[in-house]
Amino acid sequence: MDDPQSQNGTLSPFAIPVAGAGRRAPAEGQPLGPGALGTAEPRASGHRGPLLALISPSLSEREVRMRLEQLRARDLAASAYAVGQGLIVVPEPTPAAFELLGADPGVERLIHADTPYLLARRDVCPAGSRVAIGGAVFGGEAFGLIAGPCAVEGRAELLAVATAVAAGGAQVLRGGAFKPRTSPYAFQGLGEHGIDLLVEARALTGLPFVSEVVDPAQVEPLHARVDAYQVGARNMQNYELLKALGEVDRPVLLKRGPSATLEEWILAAEYVLAGGNPRVILCERGIRTFNRDTRFTLDLATMALAKRATHLPVIVDPSHATGRPELIAPMALAALAAGADGLIVEVHAHPEAALSDGSQALLPADFAAMVERLRGLAPQLGRRIEPGPARREP
Ligand code: PEP
Ligand code: MN
Repeated sequence: MDDPQSQNGTLSPFAIPVAGAGRRAPAEGQPLGPGALGTAEPRASGHRGPLLALISPSLSEREVRMRLEQLRARDLAASAYAVGQGLIVVPEPTPAAFELLGADPGVERLIHADTPYLLARRDVCPAGSRVAIGGAVFGGEAFGLIAGPCAVEGRAELLAVATAVAAGGAQVLRGGAFKPRTSPYAFQGLGEHGIDLLVEARALTGLPFVSEVVDPAQVEPLHARVDAYQVGARNMQNYELLKALGEVDRPVLLKRGPSATLEEWILAAEYVLAGGNPRVILCERGIRTFNRDTRFTLDLATMALAKRATHLPVIVDPSHATGRPELIAPMALAALAAGADGLIVEVHAHPEAALSDGSQALLPADFAAMVERLRGLAPQLGRRIEPGPARREP
């Protein structure tokens, strides 16, 4: 399959390699450090905030480097990033920066950033980014489906549910091996062994998988094995973890913290982008409100705002948001109608025996029925739900 980033024509030649499983090539220039994210405050020069120069995708790596050197020769800090079509960021622009970049035929557009986040801004990639987990695309017309148990509990359970969700139309398998639990006495996950089982389930079903990491030290060792990393709601502001995920070339599913504002959520994504990894999918999973009737409160309005504020795909987790199986299909349909780019849903063959989150798990048959309803609605909204490996024509 083509890499969706290159389908977008979004990667410039100096970019992170898009194919293959290896770690990314070293980024060009000095990545913009978190402390350099800028401000929307007017500067003494009269310019507001950092300057973003969207560069022509036809520029070679050498040509981009030349431009960075020209800026640096004028005492301007500048970095290049392979986000969107590729861009150069000048955190503290002077009139010389505007002159140089404004007259440059290799620059397609200048943006005065008025947000604390830069690389995630919608206008950096107005068409929206598409991010693939294995062969499953999130963003653009594609509406992606991730399903599986909350936690990997054992071989038989995982293989049974993986087979069932694949048959039901899932494109990506989920399952936590490293579980951040509210109680220290609750099941903490199978750790490495859980990842072994996910690898086996992938081989059996053809489903790529996403699994949560809770510690920066887990990122590199898992790189060759996972298809995507999940950052859980509790870790959305684990900045060391986000920095480690900026160093790799695998997609990152970034859940919103239960009390995070939109800006905090996007800035968490910005850590990953600024580290050099453009493959971020945002996930709204419910926020903490006064409401006790659902586990959290699904904030679809902020999901829709995240789509407008950023170019990143945004998916919805109706399982954690509601904690109630009977609300998962209605909220999934609402998410599709509201413009989300996909779903992540907890499914278990025997919810009553589940070691975590059993009370919110869908049965495989209910998952399959929900997918059929989503399939019926998607075309009316201009969205496409791919069949997934289990249903693909041979
Ligand atoms: C999970 O996906 O099982 C999970 C723990 O989710 P969250 O981080 O959104 O609570
Ligand atoms: Mn869970």
